[in-house]
Amino acid sequence: MTPRAAPAVSGRPGAIDVAGSGHCCGDLGAGVGHWPACIRALAVDRAVVCRRFGHSVSVSRWSRASRRDGGDPALWLLLAGFAVLVMAYRQVLLHLKTRAMARDADPVKPTRDRMGETELERYARHIVLRELGGPGQQRLRKARVLVVGAGGLGAPALQYLAAAGVGTIGVIDDDVVENANLQRQVIHRDADIGKPKVFSAEAAMLAQNPFVTVRPYHRRLEAGMAAELCVDYDLVLDGTDNFDTRYLVNRAAVAAGIPLISGALSQWEGQLSVFDPARGTPCYQCIFPEAPAPGLAPSCAEAGVLGPLPGVVGAMMAVEAIKVLADAGAPLRSEMLIYDALWSETRKIALKARDDCPVCGENKED
Ligand SMILES: [Zn+2]
Repeated sequence: MTPRAAPAVSGRPGAIDVAGSGHCCGDLGAGVGHWPACIRALAVDRAVVCRRFGHSVSVSRWSRASRRDGGDPALWLLLAGFAVLVMAYRQVLLHLKTRAMARDADPVKPTRDRMGETELERYARHIVLRELGGPGQQRLRKARVLVVGAGGLGAPALQYLAAAGVGTIGVIDDDVVENANLQRQVIHRDADIGKPKVFSAEAAMLAQNPFVTVRPYHRRLEAGMAAELCVDYDLVLDGTDNFDTRYLVNRAAVAAGIPLISGALSQWEGQLSVFDPARGTPCYQCIFPEAPAPGLAPSCAEAGVLGPLPGVVGAMMAVEAIKVLADAGAPLRSEMLIYDALWSETRKIALKARDDCPVCGENKED
């Protein structure tokens, strides 16, 4: 209710008529405190006049009277609000304390050989799979996988390996993130342009799953260290786009006796295979004995590549890695899967080892 300004009864300009509000200011000590706040707001810098008794009271006098009375609703509202804040703060503290006590009482604590409650919940959709289960997830958790290249194929493979809970993931690449990479290398962001790919990928993996360990190697894979590096891992994925590195990774994997999952892309088509000579399959060089002549196998930069295609093939490489590590199903050993995205076709071809392979054959080079 807003009182209407009335002609100054007391003859003082600016005085406000409050008698119409039904309140009496005859006894200031008892009555003024009950005036509506809107009247008091209007009374600022003015004299308040009671039409009934014809006297006026200054704001400062009214304020002193109100304090004496102790009945200011605004003050009580302020106190009530403060009390509500205190109670809410106590409730929050109690909730946090209860959560902390529940965590301390959690009977499932993570150890090297046992997943904690959060990990069990995170991997629940793996654990219910008959072919994986708890033991399969534990094998992933203890596994060490090296990914060569954090580009088109490496990006999705790294993301899914980390999300799936592969315990230790090494990634080696000497490139930095470039603008032209971001059409397909989805592990890197626009803000990562100029950063080494291995560090960008490491940050993305740890942000997605802090339960894995990432080992970034910001360097090119060289002949002098490839075999030594592979010995530290159970499996290697090759997503590089040059034949020299492919042959080098293959030799290192064969020397270390670990499987190699190799993927390749061109324009609309991708292919992948699991090379595992230690289990009687061909190696990469059995199938591709020599690098193609220059110009016959143009790179993605030269020939182009569909953006989602590395996502499809890189995710398939992660699938094969999980199958190999958990010993589930039938990985693509001695087989190559070819996916033609333009015509939506997949096909598999059988692969055979070559006795004269210089890497895994009878007369292999030492
Ligand atoms: Zn071979």
